[in-house]
Amino acid sequence: MASLKFIKKIQNAQNVYSFIFEASDDFKWIAGQFVQITFPHDNPDSRGINRFFSISSAPFEKNVMITTRFENQGGSSFKKAFYNITPGTFIESTLPKGNFIIEKHDKKIILIAGGIGITPVRSLILDLDHNNKLKNIDLLYSNRDDDIPFKEELENRKVSNSLFNIYYFINPVFISAETLNKIYDIFPDCYAYLSGPPSMIKSIADLLHSKGITADNIKTDYFPGY
Ligand SMILES: Cc1cc2nc3c(=O)[nH]c(=O)nc-3n(C[C@H](O)[C@H](O)[C@H](O)COP(=O)(O)OP(=O)(O)OC[C@H]3O[C@@H](n4cnc5c(N)ncnc54)[C@H](O)[C@@H]3O)c2cc1C
Repeated sequence: MASLKFIKKIQNAQNVYSFIFEASDDFKWIAGQFVQITFPHDNPDSRGINRFFSISSAPFEKNVMITTRFENQGGSSFKKAFYNITPGTFIESTLPKGNFIIEKHDKKIILIAGGIGITPVRSLILDLDHNNKLKNIDLLYSNRDDDIPFKEELENRKVSNSLFNIYYFINPVFISAETLNKIYDIFPDCYAYLSGPPSMIKSIADLLHSKGITADNIKTDYFPGY
């Protein structure tokens, strides 16, 4: 277990906030990994005091960033309390874990994020850019509206990396066989990384299989609860 010290909160979009924490020097993570944090609060509801969150910052940024979406109404007791966390508060966290990490670069990489599923993908993209590996990479980013978390910093990476492309799919446009055909004449042989709500991940994984991408070339990060 580790202890993280809350520093500040930043708004990324309407109802989307990032929480920045200081960690000790031995708290190491690989871009794309997640933690489970414990946040005791008054009168927790049935969902309790623990939550999984991807680390949305890249390791070179040093601070640990967690980004989440808040419901206008009816959110969990955890989210309501977490929104009001005060600077200086320490929270308990597991050490980072997970296999949503990029290990191979020998073919195109397609990163596919749905809504708040962008969190590990932001970490991956900033890490690749930092290591001069943001090449032959596409981001397909599906969101409920055009108030897109991290849009500006992702766009900046596109400007400085000509082999990095971003395609947005804004409701009512979704990632489908038809919209993919508009981007790719022939769907490329690739490593695909899918992050977002379970229903979206499942339908896009099926779509990729139909395009000939085998299961061992697809990595997924499911975000239950959305
Ligand atoms: C590996 C992994 C990584 C993840 N990374 C992230 C991440 O980076 N960012 C992120 O935001 N989430 C992430 N998640 C999901 C996260 O753990 C929560 O499940 C999610 O944020 C929903 O939070 P919540 O349960 O507090 O509900 P809320 O966000 O408050 O609400 C979500 C929905 O649940 C309903 N709801 C709320 N409370 C209850 C209740 N008590 N009973 C029934 N329904 C309720 C709401 O009405 C709403 O429809 C990740 C999950 C996993 C497994």
